[in-house]
Amino acid sequence: MKKVFSCILVFFTAIVLVAQSGAPGRLLAGAAEAVINPPDGSFLAGYDQNRRSTGVHDDLFVKAVVVANRLNALALVTIDCIGLPYPVVQQIRDAVELRLSPDVFNADQIIVSSTHTHSGPDVIGIWGMDMAHTGTDSAYNRFLVKTAADVIEKAWKQRHPVVVKYAETIFGKGWVENISDSTEIDRTATILQFATPGGKNIATLTNFACHPTFLGRENTLVSADFPSGFYKQMKKSTGGVNLYLQGAIGGWVQPEKVARTFEDAEKKGAMLAGAVTTALQQAKKLEGTDISFASRRFEMPVDNKTFLQLAGAGVIKRDMGEGTPTEIVWFNIGNATFATHPGETSPLYGLATKRMMLREGPKCVLGLGQDELGYIIKPGFFEPGTTLYATPYLTSMSPGREAGAVMMQMLKELAEQDRK
Ligand SMILES: [Zn+2]
Repeated sequence: MKKVFSCILVFFTAIVLVAQSGAPGRLLAGAAEAVINPPDGSFLAGYDQNRRSTGVHDDLFVKAVVVANRLNALALVTIDCIGLPYPVVQQIRDAVELRLSPDVFNADQIIVSSTHTHSGPDVIGIWGMDMAHTGTDSAYNRFLVKTAADVIEKAWKQRHPVVVKYAETIFGKGWVENISDSTEIDRTATILQFATPGGKNIATLTNFACHPTFLGRENTLVSADFPSGFYKQMKKSTGGVNLYLQGAIGGWVQPEKVARTFEDAEKKGAMLAGAVTTALQQAKKLEGTDISFASRRFEMPVDNKTFLQLAGAGVIKRDMGEGTPTEIVWFNIGNATFATHPGETSPLYGLATKRMMLREGPKCVLGLGQDELGYIIKPGFFEPGTTLYATPYLTSMSPGREAGAVMMQMLKELAEQDRK
């Protein structure tokens, strides 16, 4: 009896010590997804104005994974759309805060990225009937915010102890190209898998950079583009919820030498799923169970007069000024490091961000993370007489020359904070 008592005492002492030391305990994860197809007749984003949808080829999704330990939690969300503006990300946080009390889940720790499909709804506003009318449908936006909040809440409620693995592979040689500068490209696909201890997939994250532009300006059917083939194949081979997390695709990472058809888009997406599944066979176990989250809210310099005029006229559905509020996030799950870029960034910035990530482990740069401010490209694009490809278009869709440097300064500060 005495021995039993002393064992119990040791056990309770251990619990108290764990509590006092603030040990994070094991990782939990939950995931959910929902379809977010816009109604027929919606303006499609990415190419010409006044391109209205005539039906759905394949479903668009909002997908979320919540990762938690005893001390902290965050939600990572991805949306099949051109790029969600920061004010809408804030609306999603507000909607989640009404459902989950801040004592339970801190809605500030929601990270939203977009896949940048060019066959999805105009959530920015510039692809409407003409320059005088917004292409954004406020009823659809409300639906999107509500559905994203539903999915995050569902993921939170389904969280379950997990084993986390990660892997990396090089993908897309021969067809994913930086058409502005072929030497500047990152073809790394970084993969994290959250599975039950029994091996059932709860969620995978795949971070890779390529514009979803197999489907061109003539297409009027709603589609996730090549991520659709990825989703379908991953569902078949792995099950669970599979997020495609877009990388640094600005300046200008595109599918090249491909057939611009639904078939080829789906085939290349399925090939990515195949590469992910193969890479996971050699996966390493994620080290550590701590979760950290840091963000910087700041004003991005916007010199683009057209952006400012369109926002002033209510065509772009957000307040924009010479300093436009936005946010960058840096977070860790165990030895995995993630950072967001608030738009379409040159691969140069993606690679530089990864070099700031000093933990040995998976490194993910989430393009179109928390915002879509357009092309955040290297200063060379703004030099008079530059021979970089498509300069007039890329600079016309960019906040301006200073954006890259300001973003990198914010990331540097967040990286330094992570090292302390
Ligand atoms: Zn783009």
